[in-house]
Amino acid sequence: MDTILRNYINGQWTESHSAKYFPVINPATTRKLAKVPAGCLQDVEEGANAASLSAVTWQTTPVNQRIQYLHKMKQLLESHIDELAEICTNESGKTFVESKEEIILATEHLEMACSVPLLTQGKFAEGVASGIDEFIIRQPIGVGACITPFNFPVLIAFSFFPYALVCGNTYLVKPSEKVPMTITRIFELFETLELPKGVLSLVHGGKDTVNAILNHPSVNAISFVGSNAIANYVYKLGTTNGKRMQVHGGAKNYIVVLPDADIHTTVSAVANNAFCFAGQHCQAVSTVILVNEAFERITPKLIEAAQAKKCGYGMDPSAEVGPVISNESRKRIKELIQQEIDEGAELLLDGRVVTVKGFEDGYFIKPTILSNIKQDGTLHTTEIIGPVLGLIQVETLEEAIKLINSRDCGNSASLFTQNGVAARKFRYDILAKNVGINMGMAAPIPITTFCSRKDLFLVALHQQANQTIDFYTQTKLVTEHWQTE
Ligand code: NAD
Repeated sequence: MDTILRNYINGQWTESHSAKYFPVINPATTRKLAKVPAGCLQDVEEGANAASLSAVTWQTTPVNQRIQYLHKMKQLLESHIDELAEICTNESGKTFVESKEEIILATEHLEMACSVPLLTQGKFAEGVASGIDEFIIRQPIGVGACITPFNFPVLIAFSFFPYALVCGNTYLVKPSEKVPMTITRIFELFETLELPKGVLSLVHGGKDTVNAILNHPSVNAISFVGSNAIANYVYKLGTTNGKRMQVHGGAKNYIVVLPDADIHTTVSAVANNAFCFAGQHCQAVSTVILVNEAFERITPKLIEAAQAKKCGYGMDPSAEVGPVISNESRKRIKELIQQEIDEGAELLLDGRVVTVKGFEDGYFIKPTILSNIKQDGTLHTTEIIGPVLGLIQVETLEEAIKLINSRDCGNSASLFTQNGVAARKFRYDILAKNVGINMGMAAPIPITTFCSRKDLFLVALHQQANQTIDFYTQTKLVTEHWQTE
């Protein structure tokens, strides 16, 4: 019998009112793991109403008490990390190591959210006019919700709800219907926390659930992460309904390599970044721009490194590249590769045909590298969401910067060099929102090339925390009039 996932609403597990279900498939084995409800208006009504009712008490709960729940959540994730990582690997295809890294990042968000009392301090201005003092305070905005994508079954929800909760909001989490199991298990663990009912609910489903959240009058602020088309739709409907919207869409990421870059560091960072989680993360580099002889120096080593990556089932400790999320996704990636070849690109490494012993039906695709990709071609203009890397050779750093700035480059652009002047120019001139400079340091965190060291990663996390706190709070100007006589 299929396991049927339930919602967690108002402090209890409840069956969805929807009679439709989506299968949750293990992309390595193609076996069905569970059924998740397609969701409906009534499910969201129940979750949003419970969140709305609990908002007043939660808002007046002292922040130090709210923080205690986060500390306990962190302990629960840490003490169950292996179990959670295995569920994550089975539903998403990530390797066990990648799943564990994701859960560790989620715990770091919980930690960061505990600094809320410092980050939400108000401001005070004395004597702005005769007998008048003014101060600004931050208050919660009520009920928040997040709608998350398949590629981070745990992390994305944790990059929003801890901040929202600790700021005094109540919350609904709507995970991707493709990967709903790890977060469901996390909510089971969180039951032991005895959070006040309705403060944090889990509502499963697909587009009907999303629409119901976007239309529900009690939901005030919504964080969305997903593909561009859905992000645009969600943003339009949410803002039309007067909601505060935080929307992250699809991404293209670039790496520029100058001839003086350290070969070993560059090759390992590029290969780890491009092919971890089978290239299905929003920081995955899709185009490497090699300046002059960097092309000849780096390309053969990069092919070697990519070829050496072992494809396999994520619970196999030797596997480095898991399957992509679905058969449709694999088909789409293969079509995009063929399209680029038809447009004149040279196929340097072909990963389209791969057999993983014991997992012959799995949705695997090996690292693939193409060179001479066209500036207006398929790979350069489309988000691939797969282990595919395009190479372009240019003459100068200026040309590389111009090329990146001419594109809607979304998430990040990084430079590998040992030249400080070039690094500074890149930092100033590049238009991407996340800028990475790597001057030869080892890169222990493959997911974030642009943050090549742990402390830099924490800086990025801190900035993200600040933005999310701003999103889930509103400032209020209080003017106090003191009668002087
Ligand atoms: P997706 O857009 O298909 O789904 C995201 C969410 O939207 C899911 O919860 C899904 O249920 C919901 N949804 C899907 N179709 C819908 C519809 N028609 N109407 C309303 N809601 C709908 O995205 P995905 O494939 O799950 O995730 C991959 C995408 O997410 C990639 O484009 C990736 O770049 C992006 N992403 C971006 C970031 C970032 O920080 N910018 C981070 C992670 C992922």
